[in-house]
Amino acid sequence: MRGHPHHPLHDATCPSWCVVDHRHDDPGEPWHDSATTFVPVLLGVRSDGAERPVDTELALVATRHGTGRTWLLVGEPERSGQHLVLSPESAARVASALSGLAAATLGTATDESVER
Ligand SMILES: [Zn+2]
Repeated sequence: MRGHPHHPLHDATCPSWCVVDHRHDDPGEPWHDSATTFVPVLLGVRSDGAERPVDTELALVATRHGTGRTWLLVGEPERSGQHLVLSPESAARVASALSGLAAATLGTATDESVER
């Protein structure tokens, strides 16, 4: 989908979800990024063979280099090396499967479960 080619901040190749101000980009194909969505989560961090619960948030952002492939990134904002990088189609399949699995497991919650 073409974005906002006449918007002063945008490049002619911008997708509709791009929020980057491209006026000061270096020459070459621009990086397009969406606004970041932050989702509060209880993250299980593996330590000594078991998951330790950590309150944090996940950042979700779409990115595309020039007219190349669009990727959806999922990860903690300060841990750039731990992102999931998925195609939009893959992200939709994962989200659907996770929703089903979450619904099934929430139906069998135990006293130890944390409602987040
Ligand atoms: Zn853009």
